Amino acid sequence: MTEIRRVGFIGLGNMGGPMCGHLARAGYDVAAFDLDGSALARAVAAGARAETSSLDCVRGVDAVITMLPAPPHVEQVLLYDGVIAAMEPGSVSIDMSTSSTAVGARVAAAAREQGVDVLDAPVAGQNIGARAGTLAIYVGGEESVFERARALFEVIGNPKRVFHMGPHGAGYTIKLLLNLKWFIESVAAGEILTVGVRAGVPLDRLYRALVGSPANSNFLEHDVRPVLEAGDYDEAFPMRLVTKDLGLAVDLARDVGVPVELTGLVEQIHRRARVQYGDDAGEVSAIRLYEDLAGLELRLPAEDLD
Ligand code: NAD
Repeated sequence: MTEIRRVGFIGLGNMGGPMCGHLARAGYDVAAFDLDGSALARAVAAGARAETSSLDCVRGVDAVITMLPAPPHVEQVLLYDGVIAAMEPGSVSIDMSTSSTAVGARVAAAAREQGVDVLDAPVAGQNIGARAGTLAIYVGGEESVFERARALFEVIGNPKRVFHMGPHGAGYTIKLLLNLKWFIESVAAGEILTVGVRAGVPLDRLYRALVGSPANSNFLEHDVRPVLEAGDYDEAFPMRLVTKDLGLAVDLARDVGVPVELTGLVEQIHRRARVQYGDDAGEVSAIRLYEDLAGLELRLPAEDLD
């Protein structure tokens, strides 16, 4: 198997842009494309070569990386635009988008016919992690193909957080489940904190009691703090992607035949927050929904939180 040195990179947004830049700076030969000309220009400034279409990124490369918004975009680029069909046998298609196992399976079937290998490799760590090169990467696919791509993942992410999760689709699955758990936590925090304050418990005591109890969580201890300290609902990850991921989690549960009443309800709460505050509102806008319903703001100076 040839070492991966020449890469096509399609999708250069908040995440793909910096990820592509790391590869170019690490010496990979990167052919890049995005429908958005300004995103493409930023990738070129970081050392990639601009191509004029997705298909043009495929010529002579060892691997094609896609980092696109959602499953329909992944299917469009890899199947309908003909990227998989144009790839050389023995090359690797690596989808790093948060996408679905259903689209992944269709891509894998087309790739098999072509003699192309596939990995799903979604990431966690937001734009800040993409820029710093510290993303966690959850990879599904054959172990030998994972090993072939490992060096590339270690350039994009934190080498200690590059995980082989199992067969193809396992990466998408774990990414959707860890996001789901987190989105459940954000609704739970919104409910618990607003009920407690409305019941007359001072927020600082309520917060410290929760964090010091068996009900503590990483979300309560760390992730809710920007809301409490500064009314920051974290626009780095917008509600349009939150609700996309929750819809995919519901689809996944349906596909495997597990009823998920809680997930369905949590999805609808986040959809309400998206309608209320907009597609680009911050990812914990569900908490803002509870604040508005209860007619209060959950705010505490940092020194009162510890
Ligand atoms: P983004 O919207 O900033 O970027 C997506 C890019 O894809 C855009 O530049 C868009 O022009 C391009 N694109 C869309 N269709 C295309 C096509 N047909 N051909 C070429 N380019 C096309 O999204 P993002 O924040 O970079 O997220 C990308 C993926 O990573 C999503 O699946 C998201 O859920 C996931 N993700 C995002 C974050 C985050 O914090 N933003 C964190 C982890 C995972």
